[in-house]
Amino acid sequence: MRRVTIFGATGSIGENTIDLLLRQRDRYEVVALTGGRNVARLAEQARALNARLAVTCYPECHAALAEALAGTGIETAAGPEALLEAADRPADWIMSAIVGAAGLAPGFRALRHGTTLALANKESLVTAGPLLMAEAARRGATILPVDSEHSAIFQGLVGEDIAAVERVVITASGGAFRDWPLERLAQATLDEASTHPNWAMGQRITIDSASMFNKSLELIETREFFGIDPARIEVVIHPESLVHALVGFRDGALMAHLGPPDMRHAIGYALNWPERAELPVARLDLAAIGQLNFQAPDLRRYPALALAREVMRIRGHAGAAFNAAKERALDAFIAGEIAFTDMARVVEATLDRLSGECALARPPESLDTVLAIDHLARQRAAEAVRALNART
Ligand code: NAD
Ligand code: MG
Repeated sequence: MRRVTIFGATGSIGENTIDLLLRQRDRYEVVALTGGRNVARLAEQARALNARLAVTCYPECHAALAEALAGTGIETAAGPEALLEAADRPADWIMSAIVGAAGLAPGFRALRHGTTLALANKESLVTAGPLLMAEAARRGATILPVDSEHSAIFQGLVGEDIAAVERVVITASGGAFRDWPLERLAQATLDEASTHPNWAMGQRITIDSASMFNKSLELIETREFFGIDPARIEVVIHPESLVHALVGFRDGALMAHLGPPDMRHAIGYALNWPERAELPVARLDLAAIGQLNFQAPDLRRYPALALAREVMRIRGHAGAAFNAAKERALDAFIAGEIAFTDMARVVEATLDRLSGECALARPPESLDTVLAIDHLARQRAAEAVRALNART
């Protein structure tokens, strides 16, 4: 029996992970499942998988969770400390699928125990990449990428020498507004931004796909996870989302990873690694697909990509500042406080201010310094939101 824990079980990645576990229930023993406000769903999952522990990150939701699981013998807990305690429970495989910087601390804690961490939470690598990779090495823990592009690169590197890699190309669908006239972007509504052309995902990452903040995080994630020079990492728009990433070698070979837009492939690869198991994903019919298209991203449409290049140049705490400012700007867009195109302005203004205020390039010493920058960046981003609103 493999002992498994899922952080963010009630989210899009969490549900896909559970779908795979339920197909082979007798192989897995579920240690802990965590969620947020959707305690009814969390309780349902905990019952279906006979989990030992269910945790909501919100203390005010604990009573409802405990009530929903009364009489089952399933333990319940709540709050950020309870998430860390869940990470301390012995497990062989832990899925890190909380959305945002909130996923950093529980995943980091799990590494302490030398576990295998399936990492969907890209924010962990963006905010604290060097710390996370060093902790995994020190504790003998394994991190497996679950982002589709990074799983694809990882698979492309099996049996290869990283020194022979000349370039890595990650693909982007272009998001909801790929074909919109540029001047219309400022009027994009929340509903329009929350619709992805190809993937069904959580709302936040879907909006980040439209702005390409998601691809920006993935550029940084690629650099931090694989240790590849940013100049060798490219982004190409590929509207069909069937090629997830390509790895180019010094002999000119370019190896592409193809598959349907179904996260159960990347999750299942990490779940079964180093073996390949049969997975319930559709098989591509290439003749029916007919053609694959690629185009260069326009930086006027996707200013987030240029910001990510700057973040990779500074490194240090810039990733934490970038991600936190992005999260705050996204909150403001979701709340209707700023326009879609203002998100990049808020992030840029925050990075500019923090560059003047603190030594952003200083390498992170601990999670505490990362979280301090995260906190400060959210404040500065909130000020930038207010400044934008004062002007209009
Ligand atoms: P989601 O919004 O669907 O789910 C997020 C989960 O995190 C939920 O269980 C929620 O309860 C929990 N959560 C939210 N805020 C929390 C907090 N403050 N503390 C603790 N738990 C909290 O998100 P998702 O789309 O499943 O994405 C999860 C992560 O995986 C993100 O980092 C995302 O970038 C990454 N990812 C997702 C996809 C996808 O297909 N959805 C693909 C690649 C990478
Ligand atoms: Mg991705």
